[in-house]
Amino acid sequence: MDEAMRKRLIEAMARTVITHAEELTELDRQIGDGDHGLNMKRGFEAVLEALPATAAKPLPEALQGVGTTLVMKVGGASGPLYGTFFLALGKTMPDTPTAATLAEAFAAAVEAVKARGKSQAGQKTMLDVLVPVAAVLSAGGEGLGTRVRSQALAAAEATRPMKAIRGRASFLGERSIGHLDPGARSSALMIAAVCDAIGA
Ligand code: ADP
Ligand code: MG
Repeated sequence: MDEAMRKRLIEAMARTVITHAEELTELDRQIGDGDHGLNMKRGFEAVLEALPATAAKPLPEALQGVGTTLVMKVGGASGPLYGTFFLALGKTMPDTPTAATLAEAFAAAVEAVKARGKSQAGQKTMLDVLVPVAAVLSAGGEGLGTRVRSQALAAAEATRPMKAIRGRASFLGERSIGHLDPGARSSALMIAAVCDAIGA
């Protein structure tokens, strides 16, 4: 993977987060403290600022650079979790991934988020997107990008009827039901943007 491609992928993620910041904040207003979009926007603006230097590095280091920036800049619960995701992704990702090594690295990153958040799928968090996407990646096959994209977006929607068991939204108990999880939505947006940027 060359520098232009690394730049394109990281930029696509950053731009979609920044573009959807108000939507993410509004989702967090309903079942959290209304800062998710703002937190993520701050983090990804810093990612964009560092992008020329980041994209010049090999993929593993570039991804770890994104993770470090997110840990430092996003804050809240999601900052350390997304930071952990990208740090673990970079640690496991080869410089030139294949579908199989990408799936392995993604799965390792999801496990790292679970460990960090003491959480799992079914608790109305970003993991409700990350876990099913990891499964699609692991299964592999034709039209992977298109299937990953639609799985991610649908999985975020599927958090709506769930009751939150982790994070701030869990304080609401039953009242968290009927709302989309902000972190699930931000994960889906980033995954969809990467699929689009790859041209899948
Ligand atoms: P905070 O809740 O501290 O204000 P954000 O609003 O930035 O942080 O992020 C909230 C999102 O973080 C939630 O929508 C959820 O997807 C995710 N999240 C919170 N706690 C956990 C956890 N323990 N495991 C996985 N994801 C979590
Ligand atoms: Mg919040």
